[in-house]
Amino acid sequence: MRHEQGLLEERFQTNVPNIYAAGDVVSGIALSSTAMKEARLAMINAFDLPSRGDITRVPIGVWTIPELSMVGETEERLRKEKRHHFVGRCRYNQNPRGTLIGEPWGLLKLIFSAPENQLVGVHVIGENACELIACGLVGMNMGATTSTFVDSCFNYPSLSDMDKYAAYDAMGNFERGNYYRGDNWIAGNDPELFAEETPG
Ligand SMILES: Cc1cc2nc3c(=O)[nH]c(=O)nc-3n(C[C@H](O)[C@H](O)[C@H](O)COP(=O)(O)OP(=O)(O)OC[C@H]3O[C@@H](n4cnc5c(N)ncnc54)[C@H](O)[C@@H]3O)c2cc1C
Repeated sequence: MRHEQGLLEERFQTNVPNIYAAGDVVSGIALSSTAMKEARLAMINAFDLPSRGDITRVPIGVWTIPELSMVGETEERLRKEKRHHFVGRCRYNQNPRGTLIGEPWGLLKLIFSAPENQLVGVHVIGENACELIACGLVGMNMGATTSTFVDSCFNYPSLSDMDKYAAYDAMGNFERGNYYRGDNWIAGNDPELFAEETPG
């Protein structure tokens, strides 16, 4: 039995047609969460059941101090592929719950495609990052835009509320023209915002 990547990636089927594989033996992200999802997809394919999603949008969680989690695109990859996007950030110390738990730093970042305004990436660093990612993950799967978060009412005081404030920030950045358009960051009337990323 060989792991023929093209074959496996599509259907989790090995070169022995009635043998399917999932988990760490399949190249890709080696996590329990992905292993379970892959196993489900392999079973669905083995029994020719209607397709149920794919393995492209999976979160990564790192249970370090500080905790880290991300799903979807990174700004680095979008810039490399020259895909237009805008970003919103909320820091833990801008959030009442973050202040209550004494989190002096930490960040939740949402990345949206431009001009479509589709959520394409979520990044969290700080307390409960691996839990907080779930809201963005589901949002991404449901086609969330900035309005999805801004129009929602979150618990107060909760860390989840950072999604809403990151979306407000993203909305403001887009409206001020602070977003990446192919070759350059266009810094609108807020030149400091993307100072680190602005070439030159
Ligand atoms: C230290 C560590 C921390 C991790 N932390 C996380 C985490 O926090 N979150 C997360 O999502 N993932 C984590 N992972 C990754 C996660 O454990 C694996 O990706 C996941 O267990 C893969 O599942 P699997 O079923 O493919 O393989 P496994 O869980 O390794 O299961 C394979 C099974 O096959 C058995 N086996 C092997 N050879 C044979 C054989 N010849 N005959 C019969 N049985 C055999 C093994 O004994 C084992 O029970 C961690 C991994 C490590 C090592």
